[in-house]
Amino acid sequence: MGIIRDKIPQFEFSIPVAVIGAGACGLSAALAVRDAGVEVLVFERDERPWGSTSMSLGAACAAGSASQDAAGVDDSADRFVADILAKTEGRADAALARVIGDRSGPTIDWLATHQVPMLLDFKWTGLGHSKPRLHIPPGRNGEELLTLLLNACARAGAEVMTSARVVDLYADADDRVLGLRIARPNGEFEEIGCEAVVIATCGFGADHAMVAENIPEMANAKYFGHEGNQGDGIRLGAALGGAVADMTAYQGLGTLADPQQVVVPHPLMIEGGFLVNAEGVRFTHELANISGMCVPVLAQPGGIAWVVFDARRHEACLAHSVEQRQLLEIGALRQADDWSGLERLCRLPEGSLRAANAEIDAARQSGCADRLGRSFEGLAPLAPPYFAVRVTGALFHTQGGLSIDAAARVLRADGRALPNVFAGGGAARGISGPEVTGYLPGAGLCTALTLGKIAGDSAAAIASPT
Ligand SMILES: Cc1cc2nc3c(=O)[nH]c(=O)nc-3n(C[C@H](O)[C@H](O)[C@H](O)COP(=O)(O)OP(=O)(O)OC[C@H]3O[C@@H](n4cnc5c(N)ncnc54)[C@H](O)[C@@H]3O)c2cc1C
Repeated sequence: MGIIRDKIPQFEFSIPVAVIGAGACGLSAALAVRDAGVEVLVFERDERPWGSTSMSLGAACAAGSASQDAAGVDDSADRFVADILAKTEGRADAALARVIGDRSGPTIDWLATHQVPMLLDFKWTGLGHSKPRLHIPPGRNGEELLTLLLNACARAGAEVMTSARVVDLYADADDRVLGLRIARPNGEFEEIGCEAVVIATCGFGADHAMVAENIPEMANAKYFGHEGNQGDGIRLGAALGGAVADMTAYQGLGTLADPQQVVVPHPLMIEGGFLVNAEGVRFTHELANISGMCVPVLAQPGGIAWVVFDARRHEACLAHSVEQRQLLEIGALRQADDWSGLERLCRLPEGSLRAANAEIDAARQSGCADRLGRSFEGLAPLAPPYFAVRVTGALFHTQGGLSIDAAARVLRADGRALPNVFAGGGAARGISGPEVTGYLPGAGLCTALTLGKIAGDSAAAIASPT
């Protein structure tokens, strides 16, 4: 995998804009290219587009959308930028934060014009967002978002070539990409010319060597993102001369049901549920750093924990969460009428859950935060029957990647842009800064959709119209 600068073939087929990767970013870019009246082809390594986008919960944060306005939510680009900088302690790229602040809401509105509705959601509040900002498809999952995007692309005339892994780029001496080399499952290669390329291959979570090099604390952790996210685009962009940034950033949740591999919905904890380790002891403020919760969870005995909640939270969650329904259907939930019963079912020390819950109740009654710094004020106490689900921590997606400017152009280390290469989503640096603590809920899809749209606009602007 690399850059071929000599022996440039006579391309039998050329496309004005080539997009690599058919996830949220690549499909958003392709739609934008078609809006500009330019031909585009999306290359996807898998037989069926899936990506981390399909595995996600489908929620993208955005400020200034029409649905926020309609719901009377007083949000603004400035407020979003301030939240990004606060969450990352000022370490997110300020220019990129500004672009996302300004363009995320309009991107959500633009998607609606392509029949990709993203509705404002009030289930995930706080956690770094000072206003309700998460937008989610009606079916509340990433698989639906990907299907909506694929349908929109089909309607707009943006085709996806599947089973087509881009392995090399052809480039001239000025680092201008002239074409792509594609590996097919039968071992054959194809060469296709292009005038501009959008790299939308997501991050490097599935490449264990890259993870070990950039995020050593996750070197031995389970990866729960798309297996195709092997850092191809980042590697190709870097080989072409692009710089990378924030490669240490990632999202690693601590609530992956074990062994069932379903993400336990966070509203259970936002609404008052809590986490204990295998000794039945609470060990972390459950909401302080959801993005990096894998770190304290994996540090517990056996690398596991239990999410504890009650029937009221379970029922509320069941009404809107696909994952909660799955957890119920596959028998991941343990349920008992009292704490002793749940302790027995989960093989936790006798009296441990009762004690953990009593400690929370005492903090609530005192009106103070508990010993871990969490306040349960305003949240109803847990009431029987009680529930628990066993969880572990995993790396979900990486947040570092190619350096880009406000037009999503890939930048060299000296700040000059590559002539015709654009990037977004997990392949580009995000708005999370360099730490695991900087990830805002919904930022992965926000940067995929918004930067995809910007990259598509920019690529179309330098390519020949149809
Ligand atoms: C379980 C889970 C839940 C999540 N929930 C959320 C959420 O609710 N909200 C949120 O904002 N984020 C969430 N995320 C993160 C979010 O899914 C990603 O940030 C987002 O999907 C990235 O979009 P993308 O288009 O960059 O990548 P992807 O959707 O992964 O698409 C990249 C595509 O590129 C293809 N590809 C890779 N290399 C090549 C190559 N060489 N040639 C051709 N094709 C290639 C891949 O096969 C893939 O289809 C979640 C992630 C996980 C794993």
